[in-house]
Amino acid sequence: LASREFWRTDTVVQIGEVKIGGNAPCVVMAGPCSVESREQIFAAAQAVKAAGAKILRGGAYKPRTSPYSFQGLGLEGLKLLKEVSNQLGILTVSEVMSPEDVEKVAEHVDILQIGARNMQNYALLVAVGRSGRPTLLKRGIAATIDEFLLAAEYLLHHGTKDVILCERGIHPLDRTYTRYTLDLTAVPVIKHLSHLPVIVDPSHGTGAARYVPAMARAAIAAGADGLLIEVHPDPKHALSDGAQSLTPEQFSALMKELERVAMAV
Ligand code: PEP
Ligand code: MN
Repeated sequence: LASREFWRTDTVVQIGEVKIGGNAPCVVMAGPCSVESREQIFAAAQAVKAAGAKILRGGAYKPRTSPYSFQGLGLEGLKLLKEVSNQLGILTVSEVMSPEDVEKVAEHVDILQIGARNMQNYALLVAVGRSGRPTLLKRGIAATIDEFLLAAEYLLHHGTKDVILCERGIHPLDRTYTRYTLDLTAVPVIKHLSHLPVIVDPSHGTGAARYVPAMARAAIAAGADGLLIEVHPDPKHALSDGAQSLTPEQFSALMKELERVAMAV
């Protein structure tokens, strides 16, 4: 179902007015790693919307390496996303980590996100697929392209038509300067193999705000249908992923550069 042999024309995922894939212009999803408070998510949402992002991201359920790290606000975070979405008229995406939370997350946000660590959590893929909701599927940290497409296949097989694939960096050879290795070749390769839209996450892909703009520009040049970028009103005090989060000022400058790149390709 994910293959171009099955479906030759590009899938365009449409949510409200926003289209992702096909000939649609690159869609930017931006916002903090985690929803931290009403003030924080409203400030982030206003900033990313003003800069031209179409979708607000923010984690309420966080897959953290350590159980002692901030785990997210859970339902309270989802409610804040819904509130900000209603007030500002911006679409939202947030991660769901377990099958029993699918309905709850789906009630509060427009796009369900499956994180890299859960790309091969088949019970979760089945539950999210059955919800029929637009889904952002992130590539597993050590997943091959075929494994990634087979994870998408689970979603499609179980009932979701609207799957967006996200390259977010794979296991790195060298962790000294970057957190992962952003595999930009995945963009043209997947576009050759599949009709599904592909977006790129240069924030988790690099782990360093300094390198996000270059990789965002490169992703657009490589043909990505969208970008996922972490933006925090105060990155230094972020409860997660501050080092890779852009300030609202940096994000707005990047959005202007991206427009120029998009015109050139
Ligand atoms: C995220 O986007 O919030 C996230 C946790 O990313 P990943 O699953 O790619 O690590
Ligand atoms: Mn993050």
